[in-house]
Amino acid sequence: MKSPQPPESRADHTIVARFAPSPTGYLHLGHAFSALFAESAARAADGRFLLRMEDIDPGRCRPDFDAAIREDLAWLGLTWEEPVRRQSEHLEDYRHALALLEARGLLYPCFCTRREIQEEVARAPHAPHGPDGVLYPGTCRSCSTSERAARVAAGEAHCLRLDMAAAVAQAGPLTWHDRAAGVQAARPEVFGDVVLARKETPTSYHLAVTWDDALQGVTLVTRGTDLFESTHVHRLLQALLDLPVPEYHHHRLLTDDQGRRYAKRDRSLTLRALREAGRTPAEVRAMVGL
Ligand code: GLU
Repeated sequence: MKSPQPPESRADHTIVARFAPSPTGYLHLGHAFSALFAESAARAADGRFLLRMEDIDPGRCRPDFDAAIREDLAWLGLTWEEPVRRQSEHLEDYRHALALLEARGLLYPCFCTRREIQEEVARAPHAPHGPDGVLYPGTCRSCSTSERAARVAAGEAHCLRLDMAAAVAQAGPLTWHDRAAGVQAARPEVFGDVVLARKETPTSYHLAVTWDDALQGVTLVTRGTDLFESTHVHRLLQALLDLPVPEYHHHRLLTDDQGRRYAKRDRSLTLRALREAGRTPAEVRAMVGL
């Protein structure tokens, strides 16, 4: 397993950008915009463009969607460096990252079911909300070390959460830079004790994306503004795991003529459907304005 390089060992200043879809469906116009946005940012700077499959959710990701995404991007005229990194093939990397956080005393097992969390939250009428909904109320944070060990040893299903208050205290104040929005003070605490390893897989979106961007030497992370707040958590993980800090560019989200974001429900606006309807790659590029 390779470890991400610290920033000072980077030999050059080439821009490295990436498109990182989850193969849970066909690409639609919103994805096309995002992929072209990343690729053009790389090409404009004479940089490199990577494609990464974020396929850590075995229940939703499918190899046929992975193949369809590559086919659709190639049809659109995009080229990327091979091999494509597939997160499901690198679970050991994420275990390693978890062990580093564990060694800092920042993880704890959480045995709560979704229903238990809902019930706990319902008892607290003013439960705080974050970008992903209601914050985890912290039930398992106060479990004793011996209780945790006994429940884990008994095989009780659990995820691993970051002790956010302790993590923020260790990291101290942090900032990151977005090309559109400027310098941001990191506010990871708005997410509460985020899940870093799910019950069924030894990672989560936040951990895998942060680790992989560092490992792959990504210097410019482009993605939609729907993920803007997540970057606060990623910046914290970079500090805790001693990873380089890329620049960010969160782009606008493409919407349909009623102002709605494109989603999987918009079957007629998948690249596949547009191609079958006789649209050319140039027409699709014009539709997304890139
Ligand atoms: N895999 C994420 C998604 O499909 C995007 C990851 C990222 O760009 O940070 O929404």
